[in-house]
Amino acid sequence: GFRRASRIASLEISEIVQLAERSAVLRAEGRDVISFATGEPDFPTPQHVVEGAHAAALAGKTRYPATVGTPELRAAIAKINGVTPKEVIVSTGAKQVLANAMLATLEPGDEVIMPAPYWTSYSDIVSMAEGRPVVVPCPMTEGFKLSPAALEAQITPRTRWLMLNSPSNPSGAIYGRQEIKALAEVLARYPNVWIVADEIYEHLNFVPFHSFTAVAPELSERTLIVNGVSKAYSMTGWRIGWGIGPTELIKAMGAVQGQITSGACSIAQAAALAALTGDQALLDDRRATLLARRDKVVSALNAVPGIECPVPDGAFYAFPNIEGAMAACGFSSDAEFCAWLLDEAGIAIVPGRAFGLPGHARLSFAYSDKELDAGLARISATVSSRI
Ligand code: PLP
Repeated sequence: GFRRASRIASLEISEIVQLAERSAVLRAEGRDVISFATGEPDFPTPQHVVEGAHAAALAGKTRYPATVGTPELRAAIAKINGVTPKEVIVSTGAKQVLANAMLATLEPGDEVIMPAPYWTSYSDIVSMAEGRPVVVPCPMTEGFKLSPAALEAQITPRTRWLMLNSPSNPSGAIYGRQEIKALAEVLARYPNVWIVADEIYEHLNFVPFHSFTAVAPELSERTLIVNGVSKAYSMTGWRIGWGIGPTELIKAMGAVQGQITSGACSIAQAAALAALTGDQALLDDRRATLLARRDKVVSALNAVPGIECPVPDGAFYAFPNIEGAMAACGFSSDAEFCAWLLDEAGIAIVPGRAFGLPGHARLSFAYSDKELDAGLARISATVSSRI
């Protein structure tokens, strides 16, 4: 019979995808489902980006691209970040950058420290690469951020990576300059620990954003910056992300990528180039739209009994504590509460346990005002009716 390889023995379809599928089933039954579950901007891909792709296709850029990215896109990314193209790899989404890095570096049992809440895929990618996720809970009272002491307490001789994500999915937390500096001071003492700085929400910030290498250049020889066009430019379907790091690491990641995808789609890379070199004013427009939605969502959630929602500094997620509402409605877990909310009210939000921090839920506000207004009113009415 069929037997899974042990390296993926516990790998499941992500809870977020399961929720999306359950929502689709309910919709097919004729239910009115409002989903705040997926991490995807509702804006369309900008026209000039689509035109860049079209022009590339017509110009015959339809052959196998260079494994680690087209020279044009690598050069553009290098220029923006003040590095050389050799320090850049373009992959099929930021997700593949992370997978390449883990597959290229982890020995079985190597430890990867991830502050929770973390993006769901971090632990799955590490496990798939036979590493061991070391989850460090970073509660709401600490702004969902990793403290230098909590970091140091988890470092062992087996630690290979620290995975930092700022702005964070799902908490929206952004590490300030001093907070990065304090972590860097600890890391400076442990040369075995490399750093993933996932900055894919870089442009979706409501307070100043600081790139990890800008604050801690002394660690750049063991830092991998992860970024991409998915979130800022509404290009989730184009699947273009990149990594910036020391050339030996980039080379190793390229070797992995060469045997998995041969490189990212040439047309999508042309689109990404158009996004990076085109008008950047759209980023300000989107930031302003998201800021207004954030404020609406945070105040509506805080008005629901048993829900406490801190103000996210970036990205497009609210990550409220829902323990009070959960208990008042008679549920002992965030997952049961979210399943009930979907079945009872047709509202899809993701339980905090999917991000390694139970007792919370993630609600994306990359949705229209109309959907947000209707959905928030429904959450409030449903919870209130049960209490
Ligand atoms: N990193 C974080 C923190 C994310 O939230 C996501 C997408 O949800 C990604 C990486 C992956 O992005 P991409 O679409 O480029 O694979």
